[in-house]
Amino acid sequence: MVLAELGGSITRALHKMNNTTVIDEKALTDCLNEINRALLQSDVRFELIRDMQINIKNIVNLEQLAAGHNKRKIIQQAVFDELCRMLNPGKPSFVPKREKTSVVMFVGLQGSGKTTTCTKYAHCYQKKGWKPALVCADTFRAGAFDQLKQNATKAKIPFYGSYMESDPVKIAVEGVERFKEEDHDLIIVDTSGRHKQEASLFEEMRQLSEATKPDLVIFVMDSSIGQAAFNQAQAFKQIVAVGAVIITKMDGHAKGGGSLSAVAATKSPVIFIGTGEHMDQFEVFEVQPFVSRLLG
Ligand code: GDP
Repeated sequence: MVLAELGGSITRALHKMNNTTVIDEKALTDCLNEINRALLQSDVRFELIRDMQINIKNIVNLEQLAAGHNKRKIIQQAVFDELCRMLNPGKPSFVPKREKTSVVMFVGLQGSGKTTTCTKYAHCYQKKGWKPALVCADTFRAGAFDQLKQNATKAKIPFYGSYMESDPVKIAVEGVERFKEEDHDLIIVDTSGRHKQEASLFEEMRQLSEATKPDLVIFVMDSSIGQAAFNQAQAFKQIVAVGAVIITKMDGHAKGGGSLSAVAATKSPVIFIGTGEHMDQFEVFEVQPFVSRLLG
């Protein structure tokens, strides 16, 4: 089930309950079961759904609610709050500050949209008057440097990389040092992805992180992946200090489960979403407006 359908299904379940005459335990359970089914079909992890159900039942204690309380409203608000809570890890992500150069390292599997997102992120700060720079530390995929170079040139953002050097750590360190000397305030390091999780990929990420000491590691994830999202995000989190998530391809067959799982696995907030291939198709992510839009 894609994201738009998920929102529609939850809204329908709430409307159905609105049309029942008496809001009793059965009406609430029926409504929550319908919401749970929709979440399961969107690949949301079972554990998250179970916690949500328990929390809502605790908040909406029908027996204790005195007559006159608008039970429908209370239930609706509880569902809204729980969806927001799932997307909110409780602590904000590191935000780069102009006074001090920040190094931001991007990680994620190949094809997730990492290289595109690095440029979008840089472009977003450049528009606000920052001096970002891009470093291509992906020596694994042939063409990776060319792609970054092309994107960076289009966005008029300085870049660093090498066709000859095969050691990503060496390139990353050289690139970060050069851009620090040139007084860039935001240095973005793009890394390799591979096709699947492999020990060699994670070892490379560990070494890159140790060598460049990033202020922030951003995990980039394709919104269309389902159940695999949790393990993928968790695997990266165990190796490097992931502090934020960016979900790409929200314009396509986005599922709800992936993003919720990535937040749960990394305990980090989603900070931006990608909504297209173009550089400007990139939006700041805010939990409450997102959930409001989801539920129509
Ligand atoms: P990487 O292998 O993780 O570096 O991924 P790329 O940056 O090369 O992106 C893989 C493909 O996804 C490219 O064709 C991108 O244009 C496309 N892409 C990236 N982000 C988005 C997005 O938000 N929406 C859409 N529709 N396509 C995207």
